[in-house]
Amino acid sequence: MRILIIDDSTDARAVAQARLAPEGHEIVCADTGLKALDVAATLEPDLILLDVDMPGMSGFEVCRRLKRDENLNMIPIIFLSGSGEAGDKVIGLDLGAIDYVTKPFDTFELRARVRAALRTKHLQDILRDKAMIDPLTELGNRRAFDDRLSLEWSRAMRYNLQLSMILADIDMFKRINDQFGHQVGDEVLRQVASRLSACLRDCDAIFRYGGEEFAAILPETPLDGAIDLAKRLCAHLGDKPVKVNKHELKVTASFGASSNLECDDLSQLFVCADHRLYDAKAAGRNCVRPES
Ligand code: GH3
Ligand code: MG
Ligand code: MG
Repeated sequence: MRILIIDDSTDARAVAQARLAPEGHEIVCADTGLKALDVAATLEPDLILLDVDMPGMSGFEVCRRLKRDENLNMIPIIFLSGSGEAGDKVIGLDLGAIDYVTKPFDTFELRARVRAALRTKHLQDILRDKAMIDPLTELGNRRAFDDRLSLEWSRAMRYNLQLSMILADIDMFKRINDQFGHQVGDEVLRQVASRLSACLRDCDAIFRYGGEEFAAILPETPLDGAIDLAKRLCAHLGDKPVKVNKHELKVTASFGASSNLECDDLSQLFVCADHRLYDAKAAGRNCVRPES
């Protein structure tokens, strides 16, 4: 795992680095708070060791800024300080640090505290990943979709790129459940998920948005590209039956596509795709809207 050591003292950095290197971590150093914020944002370390007393930006201020940044606030921080004063420890921990070590530190204690913090970080990463994945289909869930769409929307705005999305909803899915039971319905959902995923490019992403609804995000794709893809998805699903146990089920879905050039904001992009999905349902299902 990657550890960022932030200390203005060359000696202190060298000591901490030497003590931790034998544990097999990748170690990166920064000598000012400002540089550290930059390094943290680009390298996303798993743990930060942060000196409290530094000229310019103090360790406390660095911690405050890290905790305010939603991309960085989950990185555990251990304060390193020459001061063993309870007041400083309280400030550091209340700012969100996970631990506090007083210099000069005992090598074995430092290593053990680092291991403990990294264990917590590892568990936290597992939980975060689980919270983003739909266990049935193993696709990203609605939360993952929302996060990714907002990331891609800002990227598209910043670099003036096109961005499209597709919403898909399985047709008459309730009938499959009613006729064959929920377990068969579940298996159909899994197979639909894997068929849809198989049609996408690596840079595209597909999510299970809700019950029998899927959403695809297509970076750097204009509306006509999204429509073409939706038509391929529609055909790839409807052309061959889904086999579950002894059943061969004809499963189709309806699709709505939208692009950022038609919309002022991210929620419009979604609403537009949703309206078009509704149009596809109204037009008789198993089709894509807009048509071209
Ligand atoms: P339409 O063509 O208008 O979309 O009809 P539909 O039957 O697909 O739509 P409706 O919204 O009426 O029903 C969706 C069904 O999907 C109802 C719900 O029980 C089922 N469903 C949602 N999530 C799951 C799931 O995880 N497993 C199974 N087996 N069924 C699910
Ligand atoms: Mg449906
Ligand atoms: Mg539905």
